Amino acid sequence: MKYLIVGQGLAGTLLSHFLLKKGAQIKVIDQFSENAASQVAAGIINPITGRRFVKSWRVDELIPFAQATYRELEKQLGISFYSPRHILRTLFNHREESDWLLRTDELPYQQYMAEEADLEAYAKHTELAYAYGETLKGAQVNVGTLVIAFRQMLKEQGGVQEEEFDYSQVTFLENGVQYKEETFDQIIFCEGYRATNNPFFNYLPFGGAKGEVLIVRIPNVQFEKLLKHRVFIVPLKDDLYWIGATYNWKFEDDQPTEEGGQFLEERLKDFLKVPFEIIEHKAAIRPTVKDRRPFLGQHPQYAGLAIFNGLGTKGASLGPFWAAQMAEFITLNIPLDKAVDIERF
Ligand SMILES: Cc1cc2nc3c(=O)[nH]c(=O)nc-3n(C[C@H](O)[C@H](O)[C@H](O)COP(=O)(O)OP(=O)(O)OC[C@H]3O[C@@H](n4cnc5c(N)ncnc54)[C@H](O)[C@@H]3O)c2cc1C
Repeated sequence: MKYLIVGQGLAGTLLSHFLLKKGAQIKVIDQFSENAASQVAAGIINPITGRRFVKSWRVDELIPFAQATYRELEKQLGISFYSPRHILRTLFNHREESDWLLRTDELPYQQYMAEEADLEAYAKHTELAYAYGETLKGAQVNVGTLVIAFRQMLKEQGGVQEEEFDYSQVTFLENGVQYKEETFDQIIFCEGYRATNNPFFNYLPFGGAKGEVLIVRIPNVQFEKLLKHRVFIVPLKDDLYWIGATYNWKFEDDQPTEEGGQFLEERLKDFLKVPFEIIEHKAAIRPTVKDRRPFLGQHPQYAGLAIFNGLGTKGASLGPFWAAQMAEFITLNIPLDKAVDIERF
């Protein structure tokens, strides 16, 4: 079993991990970009989302699986990038508060919602809003750190080539596929939003949502929880916080804009009572999908090609579970869940 993985963001990293666990031989081609979604994401795992405060899709299985996978990778790589964290959510008016309270009464929601929110340091350093809810079992995955540490491990084993993949160098064989001089059982594309340029898979209904974020220093506030106000505040390390994000469905490139930066800065100033310093302004495009389900599967015409993509706005929670399923499909031919199989198109 020998596979070529194209793209090593979160999707390529997790798929490589599960293929290696199955004893497969892998090679990775990735042209690193600071504007890859995995380098810009906060990696928030949030079990309760949306205006109606509903459980995220399949969250009861996804979260424990994600936690176990990230813990295993932390151990293997000797680094720390996964932090379980409660998520505070601003409730802006009476209606939002009563909707939240009604949810806390529902049995399937009780493991995810605290009876009362505890603002801790936010009570002192932010303008108080109408009310707050507190979500349990949230987490933050420092995705950029994971990806870079995993690449280092692959490099030490000689398994990474840092270059752009050349689609014109693919040759289809009777059993497998050839890229340049080397043969593989399959090539699996994990290219994030850049898959829209992939001539074999650009028929899939990709969306794409550009997001901008700020990294700021807020000295001595010691926020431990995440806060979702009009923007998210996510603790990184020391006095650094991730502030984001914008959502733009129409965009020309993946670069930060003045408008996006100002939007975030103003939103933060609106409710933070202490000074902050902007350290970095970043942008990337989320690999979203029109029907909001990941893209897994084999090319309808070329059995030597497969795809693992479409992690959208929720790669940190979706990634581990679906990467494991993709590895089972590739190595053991265990059928994919219909909801994520690209056969649906
Ligand atoms: C602003 C922002 C905030 C986000 N916040 C969160 C969050 O809080 N929680 C969450 O779960 N998710 C979040 N996401 C989404 C998350 O980032 C994505 O779901 C996930 O990172 C996608 O990973 P990926 O590996 O599919 O794509 P990418 O991270 O884009 O990785 C693809 C990799 O492949 C390489 N590549 C592509 N094509 C080629 C090629 N032809 N040749 C060589 N290399 C190639 C790229 O350079 C890149 O390194 C956020 C995204 C953004 C932009």
